[in-house]
Amino acid sequence: MPDAGPSTRSVHLTESVDPATRAVVPPIVANAAFAYPDVDTWRDVALGRADGHIYSRNSNPTTDRLEAKVAALEGAAAATSFTTGMAAISSTLLALLSSGQRAVSVKDAYGGTYLLFTEVLPRFGIECVVVDTSDQEALEAAIAEGCDLLYLETPTNPTLKVLDIEACAARAHEVGATVVVDNTFSTPINQRPLDLGADLVVHSATKFLGGHGDVLGGLVCGSEELVGRVYHYREIAGTGLDAAAAALLLRSLKTLGLRIERQNANAMAIARWLEDHPRVSAVHYPGLESHPRHDVAARQMSGFGGMFSFELEGGFDAVREVLPRLRYAYLAANLGQVETIVGPPATTSHVELTLEERAEAGIPEGLIRYSAGIEDVDDLIADLAQALEEAA
Ligand SMILES: *Cc1c(COP(=O)(O)O)cnc(C)c1O
Repeated sequence: MPDAGPSTRSVHLTESVDPATRAVVPPIVANAAFAYPDVDTWRDVALGRADGHIYSRNSNPTTDRLEAKVAALEGAAAATSFTTGMAAISSTLLALLSSGQRAVSVKDAYGGTYLLFTEVLPRFGIECVVVDTSDQEALEAAIAEGCDLLYLETPTNPTLKVLDIEACAARAHEVGATVVVDNTFSTPINQRPLDLGADLVVHSATKFLGGHGDVLGGLVCGSEELVGRVYHYREIAGTGLDAAAAALLLRSLKTLGLRIERQNANAMAIARWLEDHPRVSAVHYPGLESHPRHDVAARQMSGFGGMFSFELEGGFDAVREVLPRLRYAYLAANLGQVETIVGPPATTSHVELTLEERAEAGIPEGLIRYSAGIEDVDDLIADLAQALEEAA
């Protein structure tokens, strides 16, 4: 359904009535192994000569449905699913990279991903270069020096920096690199990296795709060939998603278009309101004209997302005063949920870093990361207004 809108696609893509039961929502196949009437039929399935399932670490009808749905939303030929976002990301990098190869990424990648590049992969003889996210020239120079895999995240956590996917992918393809983009913050409703030249898209489904904070998961989407290589490693590593979690994600995905539309609108309205607030010294949101790469964001995104961050006058002391006064926001580490969630980088994305390291990474102590929920925006703004007023 290429012409259908985002909510229609979220609801209907890859959905069909279950042929065995006529159920509109197919039953969850919570099952370990699949039985066959004879050895020859069993062997045909095991060798991939006939459709079917053998063992749920390898494949399962419910996780298959989830993978087909997310692949269709991302415009990918194939997808494979994982227990968490980090399982998806680590499995992708371990499946694709070998010793002697070189990977390029950016400093603002998700904390766990950053540690893969700085701590884990170098132990296996993989050269990893992480460059300043805002320095496009340095990024292109690092790619030109030799690059087997380029790993991007945009917008980034927690300062919402934006990378030009199309330009970066073009440079990377000139040197034969595989381009991987973490699309967790945008979801395919707001940004489709494969259309912009990326080879693989990775997701923490724990965030916006799940959207309700009750399930963890991860996905990798792309060509049959590349996803096949990641899937092969997933079978060995045993990091595949289970059917119950896949069913929760399938349920969540039906409201993806609706939720993202609301979260985009809420984030934009609140970011604009905060920009004019006297106690706020900066607001970081790709949808604002003041964002240094607003033009790139406007070109490659169809919505600017539910995430933004802002800086309070008064640093961490002010953050400590304001956050507990919010009535409609949870102080928690997740993001992308239907509930508004707030937190400082010191307890969320950059908890492992010291004060000095955060300063060096350009993370101000007065920063608040805001994940806009689906509440009524007037309530969220009034809530911020009273918290900022009372804390003053
Ligand atoms: C949360 C997150 C991850 C990791 O996902 P988990 O499901 O927590 O393992 C990766 N990338 C981004 C951008 C994230 O926000």
